[in-house]
This record gives sequence, structure tokens and C-alpha cells, in this order.
Amino acid sequence: MHRLAIAVEMPQHAAIGALLDYESEQTLPAGTLVRVPLGKREVPGIVWGAADEAVAPAHALRAVIEALEGLPPLSSSWRTLIDFAAAYYQRQVGELGLSVLPPELRRSDDRQLGRRLTRLLREPPAPTADTAPPLAAAPALTDDQAAALAALQQMGAGTALLHGVTGSGKTEVYLQAAARALAAGRQALVLVPEINLTPQLEARFAARFPGRRLVSLHSALTPAQRLNHWLLAHLGRADLVLGTRLAVFASMPRLGLIVVDEEHDPSFKQQEGARYSARDLAVYRGHLEKVPVILGSATPSLETWQRALEGRYHRLTLAARIGQGAMPRVRLLDTANLPRTRGVLPALAAPLLAAVQERLARGEQSLLLLNRRGYAPVLHCHHCQWKSGCPHCSAWRVFHKADRTLRCHHCGFTEAVPRACPDCGNLDIAPLGRGTEKLEEQLAELLPGARIARIDADSTRHQGALERQLTAVHEGEVDVLVGTQMVAKGHDFRRMTLVAAINPDGALYSSDFRAPERLFALLMQAAGRAGRDAQQAARSEMWIQTANPQHALYQALVKHDFEAFAASQLDERRRAGLPPFSSLALMRAEAREAAVATAFLQAASEAAAVVPEGAAVTLYPPVPPAVPRVAGIERMQMLVESASRPALQRFLAAWLPALHALRPRHKGLARWAVDVDPLAI
Ligand SMILES: [Zn+2]
Ligand SMILES: [Zn+2]
Repeated sequence: MHRLAIAVEMPQHAAIGALLDYESEQTLPAGTLVRVPLGKREVPGIVWGAADEAVAPAHALRAVIEALEGLPPLSSSWRTLIDFAAAYYQRQVGELGLSVLPPELRRSDDRQLGRRLTRLLREPPAPTADTAPPLAAAPALTDDQAAALAALQQMGAGTALLHGVTGSGKTEVYLQAAARALAAGRQALVLVPEINLTPQLEARFAARFPGRRLVSLHSALTPAQRLNHWLLAHLGRADLVLGTRLAVFASMPRLGLIVVDEEHDPSFKQQEGARYSARDLAVYRGHLEKVPVILGSATPSLETWQRALEGRYHRLTLAARIGQGAMPRVRLLDTANLPRTRGVLPALAAPLLAAVQERLARGEQSLLLLNRRGYAPVLHCHHCQWKSGCPHCSAWRVFHKADRTLRCHHCGFTEAVPRACPDCGNLDIAPLGRGTEKLEEQLAELLPGARIARIDADSTRHQGALERQLTAVHEGEVDVLVGTQMVAKGHDFRRMTLVAAINPDGALYSSDFRAPERLFALLMQAAGRAGRDAQQAARSEMWIQTANPQHALYQALVKHDFEAFAASQLDERRRAGLPPFSSLALMRAEAREAAVATAFLQAASEAAAVVPEGAAVTLYPPVPPAVPRVAGIERMQMLVESASRPALQRFLAAWLPALHALRPRHKGLARWAVDVDPLAI
């Protein structure tokens, strides 16, 4: 009998070690998928290695039920990636390792999987560099692109920041870097922030690499598709893997290149379970497998930018837009002294309205950005001051006029709009503020005859709706597009010559230190939507309606000067001791009563005082997050900060076991978890 250490999925807070010992009649190589008994259940597991023979088991070991022998084992570098990610984000190896495999694979037994593999392997193998059809012709490179590609070739393994504005040709650099990897018999992995962006990029890669097999990996695939795509990557039969954050864990035996497009995008950070950053893990994976990693962005995250400044990442710059398209001129429209009607500003100030009308007359398109969906953020009774709060959350319910509902954007609680004020019976309850629905309605009044469309999470809820709406914009069936940040990303609108941010100031006063960074990225990205066409570039404009035109962020935006913006932000971060000049972890606790969550965090804080590694970290007092109550659960959080990343890691590893022990003493605690490198605090 052989004793094996196997990674299985266990509840995060079950205080069991990371791996469990089982026995097996056959020797099973590490990386083999198995099914094993756990309690009364049969669960999937991954052989992680031989069990420690020196430790005599306290009781008879249970036997492996079945091994999925048809499947080649997961490689040692894949297991090292999981080991690293589990340790770094403070999760169990089995939980993380199994959660990143396709769900259908976890459910399969050896027979089912065998049949599927036979079907997949019947298809011809991926062509090699010698047998593949020639690449589709590539466009002539700009000097910047050629220099970037030469630098990448020289770099070999390592991480490069490809910094280039929208339209500067980053994708061409990805394509040619991938062509090199494929020519060397390797696979390329390309990560994008959103599923919506995969079809465009897939089409470009497919057109460039005819005959090569390209698969996508993201959560919108059917379970069977996801398994097939994963298997093709794992078997080395797919040359190109394109996907969202979960694809960073794709098993690729011939990996030769990793690209992270829009590396600054917050969607690369998983927001539940193991809260990993796919961007950061891509950098680690590149280092581990000695392959180049390209991080592409027009507005790099300040973490990445600082590493590039320090010379830890190679900095490659694409300065100009392709085809003489210039970045649009940015105009700041000061709203401080504009006329108001009963204290309220009009949706569009007169000069902006005139600019939209000018585009209409010329048959050009305008994009109006408003980062607030729904009709109005709150309904209000002027008589008794009632507001449409959510009974389950510390948030207002948003008024959606189209279906006359009040909807909570945090817990989803939805009710029909009351006919009268629920508190005093007043019939005259009115919307306060403005969302995309209302802006769309007001524009229809202001611009009679104009074709107005709206794209936000509400208008695109049905499958295929977003594609249909985008097509309408591309085909010129829309004159004015109203949208949230959804439309600012990646889409290439040829006829758009005006982009306007209606009310972006909120982010300047956010308690979240990353809010200005995100706003700057959003506005730069939105600006990139205008003037892609060289002929129109000259009259393309971005307008910002703001009460703070002198703010450093807007002043940098006017000059399209990311470096100046980054320098001012990094200076603030350095003085405040915030990332990238410190490392953070956020300890969260949830309970029906805030006092229970707070008591747990306080006890956790006291436990930290006796951990020797605690000397190198600072624990802040528990505080409620911006929206403390969601769906009837109160949330509290506590910030842990250290000047040194390794010191923070050592502290967390020593501290968390004490918290598992603490938990039973806190009745009513719904859950707690630690978020390493949190995006929002
Ligand atoms: Zn009332
Ligand atoms: Zn709610």
C-alpha cells in the first residue's frame, strides 16, 4: 500500500491541515486527480505527493476510491502556483486547487472523462511550427512597436509593462509576441478583464493564426465547453488560451508567454473565496515558468507603475496613436457658476448641449458617461422627508422608472414604487438626483429627433443584448449613447467625436484611496473612445462637467499626462504609507449584529498582540465599510498594514490559526475572512 497526501476541498474554517493522507494500491504520480472518501461523502482530490512516512497515522487510512488515470497529471509548476497562491492569499491548497478546475472535471469519474478524452483526441493534433499554415499578413510596425518587440525579445523571461494609450497598437505587440512563442512550439496565455472583451480579441487572434487552435476560458461558457477548452489547454492541443482572471490557473504544459491586457482593471481581483489577483499571479507564474509576461495598459496600476520606475519591470512605451489619430482635446466645464433651476443643475450645461447638437448636425456620435444606473438614486417625500431606504441594507433603493420599481443595488430587494409616501401618505413623492435612465429621458426632450440609446447593467441584462446594442452603435443607428463605465472599455467607435463625463466628481472625495486612480483610468479610457478615426481626430473632444476644474487629476487629464498624475498620486501614497509603499490586508467579519462582528475583530486584535511576528505590522481598530449592512448582515472590517510584504505574510500565517481557535467563542458570527492586497478599503 502507498500512502499519499491529497488536497481535498474542505470548509475554509474547518481546522484541519491543508492535505489529508490516504492510501492506494497503485503508486499515483503527484498531480493525479482522484476521488476519495471524506466523512460520509465522496469528494474529488488532487494527489499532492507522498505522505510523510515518518509520521505514523493515528488510525487506519482510508483508501482512494478511484484515480482519473486517463488524464495526464497536473504539472509540478501548476501545483507550485497553487501552493504559492494558497499561502499568499491564506486559503487551503485543496480549496483553491479544486475551485480553479472546471466544475465538470470535479464531477467526472474515470469512465466519463475517458470517453470525453477519446472524442477530443480524435481531432487532429495542433499543428506545429512546421505544419501550421502561414500567419496572416501583419501590418507594418510603428517604430514604437518595433522597439517594444525588440526589447521583449532581448528580455527573454521577465515582466514588461507595455504602456500605450488607446489606439497605440498594443494588440499588435501581443499578436507578434504570441507568434514568436508559437513558432518556438510554445503556448500563449492572454488574460482580459471582461468576458465582453473576449470575442473581439478572439477574432483578431483567430484571423492572425489560421489553423492554430484557440480556446477561451471564462465563466460564461457552458460547463461542457469549459471542460473541453480546459482539457485542450491541459493536453497541449490548444496553442492560444484567452480568458478572464480564472484562466491564470489554466494548465498549459508548453506555456511560453503570458499577456495581461488592461492590467490595471479591478476585475482581475477575485472578490470572494480566495481573493486572488490574476495580474499578480500571472507575474509570479511567469517568474516560476521562466516565460515573459506582458502587462498592457494606457493607465497602469500604481503598483505596476512603481515597479517599472524601480526597474523591476521593463518599461515599454507606445507613445503615439496609429494612423495619426490624436487623443481628443479635453475641455473642463466648470459647473460652479452655472445657472440652476430651483437649485438643480441641468443634465447638460448649455455649452455641452450645443456641442452635442453640433455632432448631431454633422452626423457624428456622442457618448455621455454617467456612473449611476437607474432613474434616480433615491425617491423622496418633501412632506415628511421619507427616503426609499432598503430595509435590509444601509443603502437607498434606486428608482427604476421603466418598470416602476425600487431596487436595491446591494441585495437586489425589489418592490413596486409605492403610490404614496409609506410614512405620511403624501401623494407627491419625487425622485432625487439623476441616473442613466433619467439622463436618457431628459436627452430625448432636449434633442428631439435624435436617436438615443442607453447601455448599462439594466439595459444589457438579457443574453446578447449588449452585442445587439453595440452593433447598433457601430452601424451608426445611434446618435447619442448614454452609458455607465461599461461602455468606456475596449469598444472602438469610429464615428464618435464627443465623449462627456456628466458628473465624475464623486470619486475625488471617496474614502477609498484608489478612487482617483480608477477615475483617471476610466476617463482616459473613455477619452480613447473618441477620435479613433484620423479624419475625425482633429475635432474630437472630451468634456468634463466638474465643480473642481483645478483639481490635479483633471489638470493631468487635459494634458493626457499619465506620468504627471501617477507622480502626484505616488507622492500622496508615499506620504500616507499606502500601497505600493506598504502592504495591506483587510480582515472582515460579518454577523446579524454589528457588535458580534466587532467583538470578534477586537479579540483577533488582542490575539495579534501575542504573535511575535506582530511587531512588524500595525492593526487599526475595527470600522464599518462604506455600506455596512447588506441583506440583513452587518459587516465590519479591520485594516492590517506593514511596510514589508514578507513581514505581513509571516504575520498572517502565524495569526490566522489563532483566529480559527477563537471563532467558537463568538456565537452568531456569520463568517470572517482575510483579503490580502484588498482593492477597496
Ligand atoms: Zn412622507
Ligand atoms: Zn438591500
